[in-house]
Amino acid sequence: MKYQIEPIGIIHSPYKEKFGIPRQPGLIKEARAQLVLSPPYNRPEAVVGLEGYSHIWIQFIFHQAIRSEWQPMVRPPRLGGNKRVGVFASRSPFRPNPIGLSVVKLEGVRCENGELILDLSGIDLLDGTPVIDIKPYVVYVDSIPDACSGFAPVAPAVKYTVDFSERARKQLLARQDSAQLEAFITHLLETDPRPAYSGEPDPGRVYGILLYDFDLRWEILADRIIVCELAEVESD
Ligand code: SAM
Repeated sequence: MKYQIEPIGIIHSPYKEKFGIPRQPGLIKEARAQLVLSPPYNRPEAVVGLEGYSHIWIQFIFHQAIRSEWQPMVRPPRLGGNKRVGVFASRSPFRPNPIGLSVVKLEGVRCENGELILDLSGIDLLDGTPVIDIKPYVVYVDSIPDACSGFAPVAPAVKYTVDFSERARKQLLARQDSAQLEAFITHLLETDPRPAYSGEPDPGRVYGILLYDFDLRWEILADRIIVCELAEVESD
């Protein structure tokens, strides 16, 4: 039997590509996004009462991880990218139905220019992600502090201190909300966003992550990550 599911809204996120996005929500509190509800689901009545919740569950489509075939085992980055576990023992985007689930902070609900918008933070979602449902996070059922967490018992460790080059700092200070952006970039980089199988960093290699409207360029020098610049995005 097939069921038809239609997105109820779209995520507008600073993460413009998959590389660099944290692997779970809540790890980077400064990662702010908007969920813009689509007609006919943008009726204000549909969110009456939601402002009473600090957090919500978002169910979404991994729209950039759609494959025609599914695999019963996956290699989670958390295990170094070379050990396999069952797809249903993982939170991999590559699953029989490409549906994701994230708990995020609800910063606010607003109607603006005819649009119904939920302001969110702590997201792990790509820009343009289609959302299929929203549910309130309810502490007495959804929080299980003594639960076992398999191969992911704690949050990823901080591996690097993050510094900004003089050029990057100037570019940062020229932006709105530069303190929030600095904290965002620092938290994004300090746990090492490179794929788990990358191994030792290449000295002199400059990595890029597309964030907001810029290309965040950075390199690894021993135990530090240096943000080189917030470069203009090159169009292809
Ligand atoms: N918290 C969700 C869950 O457990 O279902 C997502 C976990 S999944 C491991 C998170 C990763 O999915 C991110 O690091 C990013 O690389 C990827 N991702 C986020 N949004 C996506 C999208 N719309 N399409 C494909 N991949 C996406």
